[in-house]
Amino acid sequence: MAESTTRKLEVTSWNPFTGCTKISPACEHCYAEELALKLNRWGTAGYENKFRFTTHQDRIDKAAPLKRKKPTLYFINNMSDTFHEDADDQSINAIIDIVKEAHWHNFYTLTKRSDRMREFFKNRIVPDNLWLGVTVENKKYGLPRLTDLQRIKALNKHICCEPLLEDLGGINLKGVRLVVGGGESGKEARKTDIGWVRSLQHQCELQGVHFYWKSWGRFRQDGKIYKNGKSGCLIDGKEYLSFPSDIMPS
Ligand code: SF4
Repeated sequence: MAESTTRKLEVTSWNPFTGCTKISPACEHCYAEELALKLNRWGTAGYENKFRFTTHQDRIDKAAPLKRKKPTLYFINNMSDTFHEDADDQSINAIIDIVKEAHWHNFYTLTKRSDRMREFFKNRIVPDNLWLGVTVENKKYGLPRLTDLQRIKALNKHICCEPLLEDLGGINLKGVRLVVGGGESGKEARKTDIGWVRSLQHQCELQGVHFYWKSWGRFRQDGKIYKNGKSGCLIDGKEYLSFPSDIMPS
């Protein structure tokens, strides 16, 4: 396995797109929707359309990452899905061009529209400073996304198993450098079983893939609710916050 680190991942978001539509069980309690509605109530610029998919051409034109000289890890469109059906190819191209130009940063995307992502990169080169990722919350929706991701030629790939909604069974992580996982937060959170988490962690270990368990969310490992509302990230008393050191640019 590549050199690992257990610092916390520090991430900055950049949202040329906002808004989305639900597509699979992981979306049920979408944090981006809740936040977008809140920001709209507060009158925050950019959320006039609430959670409707919106392209912010001004944010693409401003290309904020190009102006930031400090090497940074950017999450592109954490308030949307970069490969949403309403996103036009031209806008996605413009985003990828900025990623290429801002070579001193690293960027990552996370999609549930892996088929479109695969199609998009069929005849395009994925920049090495772009980490492509898909959500794998369960077998039915998540594993085909993983297969799509594995078919794309790219140096850096990750998957996100948050919220982890079932045992993923035997999972082939070929080509994946990082697995991020977590339970669900919020009042209506669904429980994540400790057995599913142990199995995923164990498979990452066997296959030499970094495993980063962000948080349990609403429920503790024993299935009880965290009394102070704050969750922890220990699995059987141990922290798993491993990620490849080169994801954090320096
Ligand atoms: S794809 Fe992501 S942003 Fe879109 S609805 Fe689902 S969880 Fe929310």
